[in-house]
Amino acid sequence: MAKIILFGAPGSGKGTLASRIVEVESNIVHISTGDIFRENISKKTPLGLKAKGFTDKGELVPDELVIDMVRERMEREDVKENGFILDGFPRTLPQAQKLGEFASADVVLLLDVPKDILLKRILGRYSCPNCGQIYNKWLNKPKKEDICDKCGKKMEITQRADDNEETVKRRIEVYEENSAPILKFYEDLGLLKRVDSINTLELSGQEIKRLISPVK
Ligand SMILES: [Zn+2]
Repeated sequence: MAKIILFGAPGSGKGTLASRIVEVESNIVHISTGDIFRENISKKTPLGLKAKGFTDKGELVPDELVIDMVRERMEREDVKENGFILDGFPRTLPQAQKLGEFASADVVLLLDVPKDILLKRILGRYSCPNCGQIYNKWLNKPKKEDICDKCGKKMEITQRADDNEETVKRRIEVYEENSAPILKFYEDLGLLKRVDSINTLELSGQEIKRLISPVK
C-alpha cells in the first residue's frame, strides 16, 4: 500500500503522473481537494454548506475547513485499506503540519519541471474543437498542421483566453512561493523525492513502482 503526496507546478503533469500511479496501484485512492470540495458542496454536507458560504461571498475557504474536509475523506475505509495519492493538499505549512496528525505519507513526490517547459506546456495547449483531442503548438502538433490526427477534421489553433504569458508566469510564481516552505518541511522529514522526468508518460510500471516506494 502506498501513501503519496503529490506536488508540482501548474503544467508539471501531476494529473498524468497520478493516473500512471493508479494504473500500477489499482486500488489506491486519488484524492484531489477540488473533488472533495465539489462532493461536499453537491451533497450539501455540513462542511460543504459552510464552505459554500465563503465561496459565495468570493472569500477563500479557511484552512480549518479545508483540513476538516480532507480529514473526513482520509478517514474512510477505502483510504485506510488501499492508501492514497493526495493532490492539491497541503497548500500551506499549517495544513502540512495538521495533516501529519491524522495521516502520514510514505513519500512526497515533487514533479520538478523547468519553468520554460511549464510555460510552453500551458501556453501552447490547444484542442480540436470537434473531438477534444489535445495538442501543443510547440511540443505536440498534429502531423498535418491544420488537420486533427484523431478525427481528421480541419481545425485552427485556438488558445484559452486566460492563458496569457503574464498570468501563467504569475501562477507558477505563486505556486513556488507557497510550496517552498511545505517542501522544506517534507525534506526535513526525509520524505521528499524529486521526479526529474519531464515526461512521466514515458516511465515504465517498474519505474513508477520504484518512485512510489517509501523513502525510508
Ligand atoms: Zn479532432
